[in-house]
This record gives sequence, C-alpha cells and structure tokens, in this order.
Amino acid sequence: MRTGLRLLLSALIAIVIGCSVSPPSRFADPRFAPRGRVGGGDPGCEQAKLVSTGGAFPENPRTLAIRWTGYTNFEVVYNGQIILLDAHFDRGSMFPSLGFTAADVKRANVILLGHGHLDHMSDAASVGTRTGAIVVGAPVTTDKLKTQPIDPKQIRTVTGRGGELLEFSGFKVEPILGRHGEPPKDVTAAFDNALKAVAPKPTAEQIAERNEIRQRGTNDPRVVAEGTIAYLITLDNGFRIMFRDSGGTVTDYEKAAMARVGRVDVALVAVSASFLHTLTAQRALEHMRTYKPDVYIPGHHDAPFNGLWRATEPLFQAVKDDHPNIITVSRAYREPICFDTENNIQSRQRK
Ligand SMILES: [Zn+2]
Repeated sequence: MRTGLRLLLSALIAIVIGCSVSPPSRFADPRFAPRGRVGGGDPGCEQAKLVSTGGAFPENPRTLAIRWTGYTNFEVVYNGQIILLDAHFDRGSMFPSLGFTAADVKRANVILLGHGHLDHMSDAASVGTRTGAIVVGAPVTTDKLKTQPIDPKQIRTVTGRGGELLEFSGFKVEPILGRHGEPPKDVTAAFDNALKAVAPKPTAEQIAERNEIRQRGTNDPRVVAEGTIAYLITLDNGFRIMFRDSGGTVTDYEKAAMARVGRVDVALVAVSASFLHTLTAQRALEHMRTYKPDVYIPGHHDAPFNGLWRATEPLFQAVKDDHPNIITVSRAYREPICFDTENNIQSRQRK
C-alpha cells in the first residue's frame, strides 16, 4: 500500500513538473536560428493562416515565412512582400479543403506559375485580378492566362532559357527552363486502374465541377519541354529558394544555373508522380544533388481524388542516406515554416 502511494505521489510530481516546462514551439525555425523571434511568440510564424488571406506578416522583415497549401502551392512572405508559387486553391469537392478559397486571397505581389496544367494555374487569373499581382509563366502558360479575365499588363512571359531576371522589392527571380514529369506509363496505368476500382466513384456533379476547373488550365503538349519553369528566388541578403513544381528530370538549363550559384538554402520541389517509391526517390535524389539545399520541403504529395498521397518519408530517408546534413520539412496545409534569412549559405561563405 505504502509503495502504491509513493508511486502515485511520484506520478503526480512528474505530471506537475511536466506541466511547468513550456512545450517547444510547434513552428520552430528548422534552421534553429538564434537571433530574433523566429518562431518564438511571433504570430507571423505561428498562425496557420496565410498572410495573403489576412494573416500576420512576420515581425522581423528579414524573417521568411513559407506555407504549403496543397499540391505545389506555396506562400512565400519576406520583407513585407507576398509571393504565391502556383495558384490552384479551389480544387473541388473531391479534395480535402485547404481551409481557405481563392476568393479569400486578397493580397499578393507576385504569382510565379511553374506550369500551365490546371492543378497549377486554375486560380491565377482571379487571384491575380483581385490582388493586382504580377503573374509570371512560360509562353504556353501565359497564352492560356490571356484568354481569361485578367489585365494583360500584369502578365510577364518568360522562357527560362537564360538572361531573364525579374527584380522586385527585396528579392529577384531567375526563371530556368525545367521539364515536366513523365512517369512511366506501364506503372501509372496499373496503379490508376487499381485505384479506380477501389476509390469512391466521383458523382456526375463532381465530374462537371472538375471539368469546369480544367478549363482554366492547359493541356498543350508544349508544357513538357517548353512550359515548365523552375524559379530561383534570391533575397536581397543572398538567401536562395528554388521552386520546381513538377517532378521531371533535371535540364541542362538547371545544371548551368546551379553550376553558377552552387547551392540553395531551401528547395521547394514536387514529388514525382511515379507511384513507386524506388522511382520517386530516384528523382528526388537527382533534384537534391542538383540544387544541394540546406532544407528540402516537398510539394505535390497530397492526394488527387483517388485518396492516395505520395509518401514523403521514403524520399526523406533516401535523401538523408545520400546527404546526412540535409533538413527535410513537411507540414500540414498553411502551417508556417520560418527562417532567419540572415543565416544563409552565401553569408556563411563571406565570413
Ligand atoms: Zn503538370
């Protein structure tokens, strides 16, 4: 009995001590930056609300806040500027909600469209018009955009074949011609058919809804070799972000750009659509060996209407086996990932 009481007492003490220790911040800076209040009581680094839908900017303009919002949509906030990477928010009732709609996106400075498939650009015209943002894309993407209700003066067409540099307040953007994913048809057909047999069947209304959204993207075959743009974003203090919204093979243009800059701080890269982890990991390794990021944040891994997500853990393991120091980060929709941008590869090299 006495032993029982003692156990109960020590359990109570453990609970009390446990409660008095403040829990670590859920949204801690993945670089564990020592300065500023990155992730420590800064609403701009703690709220799961996009800045473009009315959420808080980070308190320090040098803090970078990145939020993933499904597929390869990312919101990137820095120095009072809001950059949207891709624009596919109203995905339809077959998809889980992102927690906001395209109509909620009321402020943005720049929209960078990686390519023109519906799941990357379907809300670019409406969001561009509401926010007045500059919208950037390849010729095949902006051709499609120009058929939609948006002021052509907001549209910038880039080829990514070199010599293009877009300058904005506090950052610049270099478009680089990438290549769209081309997953092996024998693998995708087998998986697609199997999933079709077991996934819930879309209703007639859902098919109609999807077709309406489909009208706001392009299926032009030029998307593969001429229409997929990787964007290298360089902040005014040297911090570099690579955004690539399709899991295709690395191009000579990308190799040349990376030979020039060396490495990036953060890579926001699509998981390839090849279903088998052996294949998706192989492509992730190809991307990581090219961009050599400090931090890898994947995209395009949430499920289409068949319900099957693309697993990120096998990629993370393969990438870490290849490069133990790489930091891999995957968060829920809208959860912020904050960085102290003064701590970056270029600034460390200068020291
Ligand atoms: Zn695509």
